[in-house]
Amino acid sequence: MSYIGILEYVIGVIHDKDIWYYVGEKDTNGKRLRTDERYSSFLVDAKRYDDEVELRWELENLPRTLTYKILEIQRCPKCNKEFTEHPALSREDNETEICPECGVREAVEAYTKARSTA
Ligand SMILES: [Zn+2]
Repeated sequence: MSYIGILEYVIGVIHDKDIWYYVGEKDTNGKRLRTDERYSSFLVDAKRYDDEVELRWELENLPRTLTYKILEIQRCPKCNKEFTEHPALSREDNETEICPECGVREAVEAYTKARSTA
């Protein structure tokens, strides 16, 4: 697996069947956030860590009542979007890892193409 640039991590919070992202204790202006403001469903809001030691230390200090997961940020080479889900394998070369959305799109395209040439 190859990575471009520094590998970044975020903290995922298991919320029912969804994964939310840990925002941090303070906002970008340094204002302390309420407990319910510290999680977001959007990756753009997530606090990023480029140091796994720092991340693990912060994880230790989070409330034990929730379930956390360390997530790696990956960038999709096809649509250039960032994602943390398990990547899909591109049908173009069978080795490039792309985001799940592009994976679905490629599958639909392959299906449509196969139908139109049949
Ligand atoms: Zn993509």
